[in-house]
Formats: sequence, C-alpha cells, structure tokens
Amino acid sequence: MLKVEKLNAGYGPVNILWDISFTLNDGEIVAILGSNGAGKTTMVRAITGMVKPTSGSVIFNGEEICKKSSRFILDAGIVQVPEGRQLFTEMTVLENLQMGAFNKETKEHFNENLEKCYKWFPKLKERAKQAAGTLSGGEQQMVAVARALIGMPKLLILDEPSLGLAPNIVDDILNVAKTLARETNISVLLVEQDITKALATADRGYVIENGRVALEGSAKDLSTNEHVKKAYLGI
Ligand code: ATP
Repeated sequence: MLKVEKLNAGYGPVNILWDISFTLNDGEIVAILGSNGAGKTTMVRAITGMVKPTSGSVIFNGEEICKKSSRFILDAGIVQVPEGRQLFTEMTVLENLQMGAFNKETKEHFNENLEKCYKWFPKLKERAKQAAGTLSGGEQQMVAVARALIGMPKLLILDEPSLGLAPNIVDDILNVAKTLARETNISVLLVEQDITKALATADRGYVIENGRVALEGSAKDLSTNEHVKKAYLGI
C-alpha cells in the first residue's frame, strides 16, 4: 500500500533524510523508531506533503504521491495524528471532530463515523460539548485520533502518540490502533520514541538514526536485537 524509496528531504539547504526506504502493507502496523532528532517527524512531513522531498519516491496504492500537495495526499487517504495533537483547544470536542470531515465523502459519512469514534472512545461522547483544551492529555489524544478517523484514512499515521501520557493511556490508544488495523484493514504507521510499546504493537519496524534507516525487521526480531537493546532499551 505504501512504498517509500530513496527519499531525501530537509529544510532549506539542510538535508535531514538520506535515502529512506520502507514499505507498509494493507492492514499492517509498521513502527518508525528513533531517538530525538532522528528525523521521524520530517519523514512523516515528507510523506504527507508538508515538506517537499528533494528526491525519491512515495508510491501509495500504486500512485506516485511524492511532491503532490498535502490536500491531494489527504484526499488519497493518508491522514495523520500530528505530534502534540494540535487540537483547536477553544472549540468543543464535537467541533474538533467535525474538522476531521474535510471533503464531500467524509462529510457525507460524518454521522456514522462519529458513532464509530464514540464506540472506540466512549469518553468522547460524554465530553462532546466540552472545550477540547479542558480535557486531560489522554482524552485530547483520543480526540486527535478520532478526528483522524473521521477523515476515513486508508493509512493512519500516528506521530508520537505516547508523548506526555501515562502508560495505561498509551496502551489504550495503541490497542485501538491495533484493533483498527486488524478489524478494518486500515494500515498504521506508528512513529514512536517509546520503543518497547511500539514494538509490542507493531508487526514490523524500522529504526531511523541520523536520518537513515539503520535497522529493519519484524517487531519480534527488533525487540531482541542487540543494538536496539543496548541503544534504546537500556538492557
Ligand atoms: P522528535 O522525536 O524529537 O520529534 P524526530 O525524530 O521527529 O525527533 P525531526 O523533528 O524530524 O526528528 O527533526 C530532525 C532534524 O530536523 C532535527 O535536527 C531538527 O532540528 C531538524 N528540524 C526539524 N524541523 C525543522 C524545521 N522546521 N526547520 C529546520 N530544521 C528542522
């Protein structure tokens, strides 16, 4: 479903991503792992059209989307939950979710998708009329994920969903991601610094170091890899 090949991108004259290549299949959860500043968010931005790659290819469902506009990529079905959630804090939960319906198709299906989101995250139904900024961090992350689901993704990108959240809330969010992938065939690209949790959720993973793919493998193999254990798991 997604094939990234030799992707190079950066900011102005500074190159950050160096020949990044990876694949993601239908219904698969792939983790992109790496420490602070490794280039994970830049990679997400390059896939979603927010940073223009200098070279390389991004094929999504058979179509070259590298260098297409963010809007085109969104319409194609790649929806991200951005790092830091980026909610409209003064607006209610429901209004934030309405913002997720960005085109004719998602607007037409808004009500049924809203009900599905309320099933995934029952708390959001209770809090529908509350200003999003007054929710707990975990609840805000749920709004961010639900808003992305309202956008009917074929590929859902979660950028650092664990950031600043209690471990049990992170588990809840990642369990929803897992169930989504298994039950609805949505593919998930999980960008995470919490390598233990990411590998417990994902099918496969890629470790990014200094803007390059340093390691790749099944979640099981990566979690027992000596370099991963030493550099990231402290064991
Ligand atoms: P984190 O986990 O801390 O979010 P990351 O792996 O997502 O890190 P990026 O945010 O992609 O890393 O940053 C990679 C490099 O790109 C860093 O050196 C960062 O300073 C630089 N960078 C990020 N955003 C910009 C920007 N808008 N302009 C210039 N440089 C940037």
